[in-house]
Amino acid sequence: MKRLPYWAHNPETPGSTPVFRYHLSQADIQLDWLIAKAFLNTLKCPICKSRLDLYEVHDKSRKYNFCCSSNWEHYRIFFIHWEATLRVEYETVVVYEGKHQYHLTQYDDNRTELFVYDVDAENRIIDVKDKKPFLGRYSQKMFDFTNTTKEKIINRVKTILVFS
Ligand SMILES: [Zn+2]
Repeated sequence: MKRLPYWAHNPETPGSTPVFRYHLSQADIQLDWLIAKAFLNTLKCPICKSRLDLYEVHDKSRKYNFCCSSNWEHYRIFFIHWEATLRVEYETVVVYEGKHQYHLTQYDDNRTELFVYDVDAENRIIDVKDKKPFLGRYSQKMFDFTNTTKEKIINRVKTILVFS
């Protein structure tokens, strides 16, 4: 098990690294983990189809625990594997196209957030004073990340933006 130092934890934090290792030492939890892993193996990065890897980090106010194994920025999720029902509470996809970064977060309770940032030639977000990035909030899941491609996601974003 890789040690991931980013996430400040306390003994109560589920998924935090030392607690996690302790849990793995218990046989029943180990079985749960195998089931969780099987579930995880069904998830692929929507951008490059890579498998997901452990990744514990806070991003703004959110925390994530798994991401695309070839590029964390493609796809990252908060996967709840310590409750009876396995679920992805939210998932974030980042795609670049021309002068824009599209930052999509989709929630288990049927919500989607879409940020559109201006980026430079190196895909760095350009902070323009007095110009906030576009933010769209939708009360449904706008994307199906299970069977898609980068191109399909970009086309979907453009369709959504036309109607925003
Ligand atoms: Zn990827």
